[in-house]
Amino acid sequence: MTDAAIIDGSALAARVMDSIAVRVEELKARGKCVRLDAILVGGDQGAHLYAKNQEKACSAVGMEYKLHELPESASHSEVVAIIEALNANPLVTAIMVHMPLPEGVDADEIQTMISVDKDVEGVNPANIGNIVFGRRSLVPCTALAVMEMIESTGIEIRGSRAVCVGASTIVGKPVAVLLMQAEATVISTNEFTTDHDLLTKKADILVSAAGVPNLVTAGNVKEGAVVIDVGINRIVGEDGKKCTVGDVDYEAVKNVAGFISPVPGGVGPMTVAMLLRNTVQAAE
Ligand code: NAD
Repeated sequence: MTDAAIIDGSALAARVMDSIAVRVEELKARGKCVRLDAILVGGDQGAHLYAKNQEKACSAVGMEYKLHELPESASHSEVVAIIEALNANPLVTAIMVHMPLPEGVDADEIQTMISVDKDVEGVNPANIGNIVFGRRSLVPCTALAVMEMIESTGIEIRGSRAVCVGASTIVGKPVAVLLMQAEATVISTNEFTTDHDLLTKKADILVSAAGVPNLVTAGNVKEGAVVIDVGINRIVGEDGKKCTVGDVDYEAVKNVAGFISPVPGGVGPMTVAMLLRNTVQAAE
C-alpha cells in the first residue's frame, strides 16, 4: 500500500498569498486601500499569537493591519463602540473579532453587528445564511480553506459521499453546506452520533473538526479517501513535551487515505490565506 498524497496547506497558502498580493497592488493602483482591522479583548495567548500571524501575513501581501486591543475588563458597550466606528469608517475594508471574548461581552451580538460587507470571517448570520442560498459572498475562512484543499486534490466532489465530523456553526456546519452546494451526499456527525465509525468508513471525503485527538483512526477511513483534519489540539507528546496534533491519527491514516492534510501545516495556514482573500474580495 502506498502512502497518501499530502495536501500541503502551507504551499497552497503561499500560492493564494501570491495572487492576493497582485490583487492588492491593482486595488492600490486604483487608489483603493485594503485594510483589515482586528479587535482583541483580554490576554488570551492563542489570540495574541493569531494576531501576530495576521499582521505578518497582511504585510506580506501589502495590506494594512490595525489591531485594536482592549483590556480583559472592557465592557460590552466599549466593544460595540469600536465595531460601530469601524463599520462607519470608509478606510476600513474588513473587520474581525478575536475569540474568546471575556464574560460580559456578548460574542453573538458583537458578530451580528459587523457590517455584512466587512465581515471577512463570515460570522454575521447574514453571511452564513448566504451560503445556504449558494451566494458565496463572505464565507467562514476555515470552511473555505477546507473546500480549497479538497478541490486541490482534483477529485470529483459531485456525487461523492462526504462525512463532516463536528457540527459547529463556524466550521462543521458551513463545510457541510458547502459540500452540499457542490452536490456531494453529505452526512454531518456530532458527539451524540451513534455508529460513527461505520459512517466515516464509507466517506470518499472525510473532514474532521471535532477537537478530539486520535478520533479518526486507520480503521474508520475508506481506502483512497480524502481526509481533511481541521482539529487543533495541544497534547503532551511521547517525549513529554507539548505539541499540536489534529483529530486524525496521521501516521496510521496516511497508509489508508488517498490524500491527507497534516497538522500543523494543513488547514491552519490556509485559513489565514482565506481571511486575506476575503479581505481583498471585500475591497473589490
Ligand atoms: P466546537 O467545540 O465548537 O465544535 C465541536 C463539534 O465536534 C461539535 O459539533 C461536537 O458535537 C463535535 N464532537 C465533539 N466530540 C465528538 C466526537 N467524539 N465525535 C463526533 N463529533 C464530536 O469546535 P470548533 O470551533 O468547530 O473547532 C473544532 C476543532 O477545529 C478544534 O480543534 C479547533 O481548534 C479547530 N479549528 C481549527 C481551525 C483552523 O484554522 N485550523 C479553525 C477553527 C477551529
